[in-house]
Amino acid sequence: MTVTLTVHRGTQEIGGTCIEIAHGGGARLILDAGRPLDAPRDAVGLLPTSLDLGRPATVLICHAHQDHWGVLHEMPKDWPVWTGPMSERLIRLGYAMNKQSLDHAISTWTYRRTFRVGPFAITAWLTDHSAPDAAMLLIEADCKRIFYTGDFRMHGRKARLVTDLMAAPPKDIDVLITEGTNIGTDKPTMAETEIEERFVQLLDQVSGRLFVYWSAQNVDRTASLFRAVRRRRRRMFVNLYAAEVMDIVAPGTRLPRVSSDFPELSLVVTKGQRAVRRLTAEKDRQADELIERCKATEQAIAARSLPSDAVVMIRDSSLKDFEGAGIHPGPDDAFVFSAWSGYADTIAARTYALMRQAGARIEHIHTSGHASAADIQAFITALAPGTVVPVHGENWDRSQHGFPQLLRLRDGQAHVIDRHHNGLL
Ligand SMILES: [Zn+2]
Ligand SMILES: [Zn+2]
Repeated sequence: MTVTLTVHRGTQEIGGTCIEIAHGGGARLILDAGRPLDAPRDAVGLLPTSLDLGRPATVLICHAHQDHWGVLHEMPKDWPVWTGPMSERLIRLGYAMNKQSLDHAISTWTYRRTFRVGPFAITAWLTDHSAPDAAMLLIEADCKRIFYTGDFRMHGRKARLVTDLMAAPPKDIDVLITEGTNIGTDKPTMAETEIEERFVQLLDQVSGRLFVYWSAQNVDRTASLFRAVRRRRRRMFVNLYAAEVMDIVAPGTRLPRVSSDFPELSLVVTKGQRAVRRLTAEKDRQADELIERCKATEQAIAARSLPSDAVVMIRDSSLKDFEGAGIHPGPDDAFVFSAWSGYADTIAARTYALMRQAGARIEHIHTSGHASAADIQAFITALAPGTVVPVHGENWDRSQHGFPQLLRLRDGQAHVIDRHHNGLL
């Protein structure tokens, strides 16, 4: 029987990923149900038009960034869904934050334990990325072996997951589907540990408050900043969503969460956050419980009580609450934008303006959540696949230097997979 690969969306863009693997007997897997990054906020009807919704399929979500799950609710409700155990909770939290409902049943995989969906055998590997619980996937059907990287990097706090996989790679890969976010860009890919050192240096130079924008889901960054805060004996204050994410991700790991084990970390409760009513009563209850638990250990404070040398998570949406609480940035304070610089104008424009006006020091401290071109090449070499299909990148056609020959598909173009067990490298 044939096995056919169709990238419905993602051959030409970063995000919005949706890839189909179809078995000749009719069974189908859909890898990711990604929302396009450039979709307007209220846009609906975002599934790729080439995806057939009339036949059964099983959906695998590689990690909990919206460009991989954000249109899941538009897929038929009887399509089973699989993802990582934390990703399942993060996706549900994401839907609650977006005030949308998700009616799909979601099963969760155990890493490195093969499970079956019809004719497919699937094995997930935990990988290093700026989202927690990110997976790479091996899919086997009819003696064809397909490996999907999802989003990954090799310079985060979990880089060893990738280097260990490369040292003992799955054999006889016919098709490697790889992301290429950083192909043809100059995004920084310094080690996450270097980010911690830069925060330490900055804390040595800033006597006032340090306001930081970073993604709550980027738990490596939360850990880097927290470690710097602890080394410099400061205190760190996160918002409710970040505290909820850490509550999902941290138990059983060394990652920080707001609890008595991490007295340097607290929740800052603002009026705006309390006013965010969740879609489900259960999510409300979970948030209220978290706030009560933080209060019980004196790790929840109102914005007006922020210490004068606090390290504070900031959002454009929290400025009004901070201002109302008498928190006015000044020349002794600093603002760090700790996310991709391309987002600065859209997500932190008002914070930048306020900090400039206040005379606060402004810094950009960041490293990419995605592998450098050189690291992707090393990964391809280690897996020695028969064919490489690039996705999740904008510059694959311009920047192929150092890569083996790539199979460039168009969105929606079906490709019948051949066996290539000798490898092309
Ligand atoms: Zn992505
Ligand atoms: Zn991602």
